[in-house]
Amino acid sequence: MDNCIFCKIAAKQIPAGVVYEDDELLAFKDINPAAPVHLLVIPKQHVDTLSNCTDAHAAILGKMLALAPKLAAEHGISVKQGPDGQRSGGFKTLINSGPDGGQEVYHLHLHVYGGPRPWRGLGT
Ligand code: AMP
Ligand code: ZN
Repeated sequence: MDNCIFCKIAAKQIPAGVVYEDDELLAFKDINPAAPVHLLVIPKQHVDTLSNCTDAHAAILGKMLALAPKLAAEHGISVKQGPDGQRSGGFKTLINSGPDGGQEVYHLHLHVYGGPRPWRGLGT
C-alpha cells in the first residue's frame, strides 16, 4: 500500500530494528518505546485496522498473538514463576483501533510491552 510506513518497513524501503521475520509477519522495535521492551508485530500484507478484520483474518491475527510469547522469551520478559509460586516478569499486548482507540498508524500492529516499570502512559 502506497504511503504506508509499515508497508515500507515490511518491504525494507525504510530501516527498522527488525527482531523477527517470516513469510507473513515482521516484528520490530518501536521507534518511540513506551517501555524498556516495546516491539510491534505486523502482517506483511497491508490490513488497515483491527476494526475492519473479519473471520478471514483469524489465522493472521492468531499468528500475530502467538508470536508474542516467543518474542517475550527472546527479550527476557516472559512470565516467570519461582519455587514459592510467586510470578514475576511478563508483558502487555495491545492493538489500538481507530481514533478513539488511539491508533496512529493505519497498518494493523500488535504492541508488545515489557521490562521493568515504570512505563510511559500505559496505566496498569
Ligand atoms: P499506534 O498508536 O497503535 O498506531 O502505534 C503506532 C506506533 O508506531 C507508535 O508507538 C510509534 O512510536 C510507532 N512507530 C511509528 N513510526 C515508526 C517507525 N518508523 N519505526 C518503528 N516504530 C514506529
Ligand atoms: Zn501498510
